[in-house]
Amino acid sequence: MIFLLIGPPGSGKGTQGRILSEKMHLPYFSSGDFLRELIGKNEPISRQIKLIMDRGELIPDTLIKELFLLKIKNLIVTYGGIIIDGYPRTIEQAKDLESVFLSLNYSNRNIYVIELTVEKNELHKRLKERVFCPSCLRVFQNDDNICNICGTQLNRRTDDTMQVIKERLRQYELKSRPLHQYYSNRNLLLTIPGEGSIQDIASIIDKAIKENKVDIN
Ligand code: ADP
Repeated sequence: MIFLLIGPPGSGKGTQGRILSEKMHLPYFSSGDFLRELIGKNEPISRQIKLIMDRGELIPDTLIKELFLLKIKNLIVTYGGIIIDGYPRTIEQAKDLESVFLSLNYSNRNIYVIELTVEKNELHKRLKERVFCPSCLRVFQNDDNICNICGTQLNRRTDDTMQVIKERLRQYELKSRPLHQYYSNRNLLLTIPGEGSIQDIASIIDKAIKENKVDIN
């Protein structure tokens, strides 16, 4: 089973992706975490990626393809499925990913695209207030200091500043919003309201998946 999480920055893809990963016993792949890890490794490409991310722009599709596709394919083959958060973000990326699913003989019956929708003011508020754990990579709100999962001191992301948040939301509207129509045309889209408690949203996702006859325990 393959689950793609799409939706604007701050819509809760990471939080819900991790919950879904535990429920479905499938690996969780976050494009943003993967890129931040690459930056941390100080490889030749790291600096270029950091500059683009810190401006709030998207990494070029050709580079993303090179970095992600084989990794994702291997995870799907090894674990029989995957939960992907933050990829695809453009139609071009969606087409690249589709070619992987085709090469692995995945039918649309086994692919779910979960789109989280959140109102713009709420997105701004969440992104301005959030902090993350540099060790286990979970996201929390500003008033927390220490990660309640692993005890590490929480940090702010360098791209969670007012100006960069604005640009990330603009990029989303420009380049990622068309994915809604793309997946809706293919009958793969489950659109879920992303406002409310984490547990309530997780339950709505469960229900939507069950209604589409996926076994979840
Ligand atoms: P958010 O969803 O809150 O914007 P992410 O951690 O998913 O945060 O992404 C952070 C940044 O990483 C993006 O602004 C972009 O620069 C880069 N990025 C992540 N995924 C992709 C992708 N699929 N294509 C291009 N750039 C990406």
